Amino acid sequence: MKVILSEVSPRDGLQPIAGFVPTETKIALVRALHAAGITRMEVGSFVSPRAIPQMADTADVLQVAKQLEGLECTVLVPNRRGFDTAIAAGADRLGLFMSVTESHNKANLNRTRMESFTDLAAIVRDAPKGVKIRFNLSCTFHCPFEGVVPETEAMEWVERVQELNDEMEISLCDTTGNASPHQVGKLMRHSITHWGDRFAYHGHDTYGLGLANMVAAWDAGCRVFDAGSGGIGGCPYAPGATGNTAMEDAVWMFNRMGVETGIHWGKLIEAADMAAQIPGALPGGRVRGVPAARAAA
Ligand code: ZN
Repeated sequence: MKVILSEVSPRDGLQPIAGFVPTETKIALVRALHAAGITRMEVGSFVSPRAIPQMADTADVLQVAKQLEGLECTVLVPNRRGFDTAIAAGADRLGLFMSVTESHNKANLNRTRMESFTDLAAIVRDAPKGVKIRFNLSCTFHCPFEGVVPETEAMEWVERVQELNDEMEISLCDTTGNASPHQVGKLMRHSITHWGDRFAYHGHDTYGLGLANMVAAWDAGCRVFDAGSGGIGGCPYAPGATGNTAMEDAVWMFNRMGVETGIHWGKLIEAADMAAQIPGALPGGRVRGVPAARAAA
């Protein structure tokens, strides 16, 4: 059995850091992660540099990442302008995103869900052949403004999104880290049963439920997961949120489950340490702090 682990620290982990992380530091992290055997990575976001200055050098990071052998590079795209930039920059995969809840979508993207959806639907239609798409649904389970998201509301949006394209990957995202494993398992199982094997899971570890949610999604049939080395980060629009579920924790767990990750443990620990040491980064995760696990490197 195999799992696909997509690294998100270069985007989700670095984005909330207040001071600008130098482009060379970002590139060094991307290289270290690639050296550890990461084959899929979210390297940045084509959002307005005025709104999120940390991602202003995404084109430069992408240019280097694209040269790394066997690495599929994703960039986030919230709208038509981001789409045009991403296509011009040669991204392998577009990470479209919007929120399941109206208030988070307005806070994060400054427009209604329907406005986002209409724009993104046209992008799905217009994307050139060969460019892969991941459609991320933020706050599928819990919203910082509206609380626990009703299951029917979440599934309505998944249904609407899956109709856009038969093959597009769709990610159920626990943006605040406050999903419960039961909820994740239930919605993931419902999605896969109704709309096929093309779902991914993106989670944060704010409440210490990151791995539990991941394994609930795995048991429901999900085989593509986001995780962030060093567990660094947070979310500027989800106050109190901490970083992504740590990549090294996820890899340790999948190794223990006998699931193939393709990731080199020792080199991953090096990369995760590098991420954790970036000035301003708030590291998370457990395994990096366990001497016996470090010794296994
Ligand atoms: Zn996230």
